Amino acid sequence: MTESISTLNDAQVATPATSTSAAPEAFAALGLAEPLLRAVADLGFTQPTLVQQAAIPKAMQGGHAEGYTDLMVSSQTGSGKTAAFLLPVLHTLIEQQAQAEAQERAEWDRLVAQAEAEGKPAPKRPKRKNPLLARHFKPAVPGALVLCPTRELAQQVAHDAIDLVKHCRGLRVATVVGGMPYQMQIAKLQNADLVVATPGRLLDLQRSGQLQLDKVQFLVVDEADRMLDLGFADDLAEINQLTINRHQTMMFSATFAPRIQTLAARVMRQPQKVQIDTPQDRHTNIEQRLYWCDSPEHKRQLLDHWLRDASIDQAIVFASTQIECDALAEELQQAGFAAVALHGALSQGLRNRRLMALRNGQVQILVATDVAARGIDVPAITHVFNFGLPMKAEDYTHRIGRTGRAGRKGLAVTMAEFRDRRKIGEIEAYSQQPIQTQTIPGLEPKKPVYDFRNDRGDRRGPPRGGRRHGGDRGHDGKPFGGGYRGARPAGEGARVGFGAPEGRQGFGDKRPRSHASKSPAGRGRPSR
Ligand code: AMP
Repeated sequence: MTESISTLNDAQVATPATSTSAAPEAFAALGLAEPLLRAVADLGFTQPTLVQQAAIPKAMQGGHAEGYTDLMVSSQTGSGKTAAFLLPVLHTLIEQQAQAEAQERAEWDRLVAQAEAEGKPAPKRPKRKNPLLARHFKPAVPGALVLCPTRELAQQVAHDAIDLVKHCRGLRVATVVGGMPYQMQIAKLQNADLVVATPGRLLDLQRSGQLQLDKVQFLVVDEADRMLDLGFADDLAEINQLTINRHQTMMFSATFAPRIQTLAARVMRQPQKVQIDTPQDRHTNIEQRLYWCDSPEHKRQLLDHWLRDASIDQAIVFASTQIECDALAEELQQAGFAAVALHGALSQGLRNRRLMALRNGQVQILVATDVAARGIDVPAITHVFNFGLPMKAEDYTHRIGRTGRAGRKGLAVTMAEFRDRRKIGEIEAYSQQPIQTQTIPGLEPKKPVYDFRNDRGDRRGPPRGGRRHGGDRGHDGKPFGGGYRGARPAGEGARVGFGAPEGRQGFGDKRPRSHASKSPAGRGRPSR
């Protein structure tokens, strides 16, 4: 696989401006079609983000003899990656549509001229058939397919696509996700040019003949790392085969981890790599804090303290399990917060309504699991709380990326018990960033806290890169000493939590069932 890596940083490309402008020249310079430029202006985008600047020209340089370039892009949510793949794909679809219309017009003119020359009446245009009637049914044959790991992300991407095609006449976007009624989805699929889908429902509809994938020219795999985590490797292999004649594949992933490279080698042709070094990737716009806690009850007290912070606009509280998520949301409701739970066991309709309520501002606090929260893009989220720690270090990065959207600032607060110290170490190693330890007066942990970061005896050792945390202090305000320290007395004025029952709730390590280990994506290298 020959690859080239483009790495951009802030100095090379301006960060996204959030002010509105009618003339996004910087987008026009990318050569995008006029209806897309108008949509981008309507959205208030004045400058392409780093990932857009890097990926769009590469994705669009197709159309000539050498064809389109496959792209492998590392970027986080919040970096503008959705528009980075939607804009070039939509641009090509618009151009193709214009060409097809021009051909149709020329053919019509020819028929009219011919009828005139033969002294016959002008031909009549065929009546448009209502695609919703069963007798007019034709399977959908989209030209572009975006695959997302979760329903929420797919809906968010489809939402963004609909915003971008609002000035494009006749370009249709459809969403295909599980948990929604089949009939409605099938009806909306008719004539879809771009389909945004989760793999399971997509394959369901393909197998039942509602959808044909052999005309897909552009395939985008969004959050490829998450796809593999959620066990979609076999589905991806099948979709790869079903769309084997496509012109271009773009894969977006938080990392270029070896498993992603293996997937890329199977589904892409000599991909170019685009590595983005954005503030969002480093999360420099998100302040990260760590609070050590003695017990689940102590965590609840800290959370309660934080949720009363006046600077919170909207917040997401992450729980480890669905049970914990439900219990916490209920406790918060009882304590008077406008809070709801969001997790994978809820019906899709309910999940959608709750997300809508969050977007509308009717819900202030969303208590969520990792799977459900993926893809949530609500700019008013000022705080993310890690009440239950994520199963995987990279999920931490996705979680905190729910705040600090589109160039804003955000605060990510993690509450951990001492037994979670390894996970914290792994998170720091993954993100290559220390999380600053802090305490709240009156809510300091009473149990001794041992600075695992100095623990040379720990087989895992300190976070990779040997980073030290200059700002870290023990609860007594002194730097950590590298060993167990004496218990401190409870601070006065400790706040009462929101009446949660004592004891730990649902902290079992329930992972989403993964089949990722079954087989890598693809059964053998495609013949593309
Ligand atoms: P994403 O990484 O695709 O989830 O996008 C994160 C957020 O950035 C979304 O709210 C987008 O609407 C916003 N966004 C995307 N591109 C731009 C841009 N060029 N300028 C300003 N905001 C943008």
